[in-house]
Amino acid sequence: MELHFLGTGAGLPSKDRNVTSICLSMPQERQAVWMFDCGEATQHQLLHSPLKPGKIEKIFITHLHGDHIYGLPGLLSTRSFQQSDLQLEIYGPRGIKEYIEVSLSVSGSQVANSLLIHEIEPGRIFEDEGWTVEAVELSHGIPCFGYIVEEKATLGELNADKLKELGISPGPIYRQIKNQEVTELPNGQSIRRADVVGPDKPGRKIAILGDTTYLPELKDNLDSADILVHESTFSADEPDMAKAYGHSTALQAASLAKAANVKKLILTHISARYHQDEASILAEQARTVFQNTELAEDLSVFEVYKNSSDS
Ligand code: ZN
Repeated sequence: MELHFLGTGAGLPSKDRNVTSICLSMPQERQAVWMFDCGEATQHQLLHSPLKPGKIEKIFITHLHGDHIYGLPGLLSTRSFQQSDLQLEIYGPRGIKEYIEVSLSVSGSQVANSLLIHEIEPGRIFEDEGWTVEAVELSHGIPCFGYIVEEKATLGELNADKLKELGISPGPIYRQIKNQEVTELPNGQSIRRADVVGPDKPGRKIAILGDTTYLPELKDNLDSADILVHESTFSADEPDMAKAYGHSTALQAASLAKAANVKKLILTHISARYHQDEASILAEQARTVFQNTELAEDLSVFEVYKNSSDS
């Protein structure tokens, strides 16, 4: 499972950074990609990544500013040529449905029949047997969301020592014991799974926020996330400017990461005023408060580890 940064700039594209889009390649068994925002030319950036438009299963839009959505019609149109069987669902603030439907219909694009568009409110917006997605409200002048993607906990490992004590040797019986609540053995003995299994294994938690001013109150929602992706439009010495434009500084992103006790912070949405070397200063500023900070570049990829102890 990986995070692919397709565009990491703020507002305008530059030679170094395209406008915003981030993809989460879901675990192998799901064979799907979830996209977060789709700025102009996102489909061109996709061509430089290993990800395929036909594999995109969900697109989460943080807000309707052009640098986050102007790539959608083109991407949807291209995706329709790839004859994907995968139902595509798009989530975003009120207005996203009209934007997509109008741009597809006036351009005569035939993709809407496989498209489901959800105009969302804060709260849980998706859940299936393995995952949940929560939308949290941000502060950016227009409705704007952050998305918290969380994997459900899975059953712990069988305790081999305990099973041995009960006279059960490793073998196919282990799988049976793990798969059902109670297993009857040929000798009449019955084994309750709860007695021989270790604690649940927690799932991964990834928080991808849209544009926002500093919101320290988000710390509870973000608690212990494996990865927090936070905008860092401005450097630490511009907090007033950041606030005035509905954005955050590198230091503010780091303060939130620390307060929420996340494991890794990735800074993105970097203003074009910070050229290559200057942008790395943003990460250095953040590290003074939160050490495990990375600066996203276009096409950079970060692994999302199964257990935080691996990272
Ligand atoms: Zn914006």
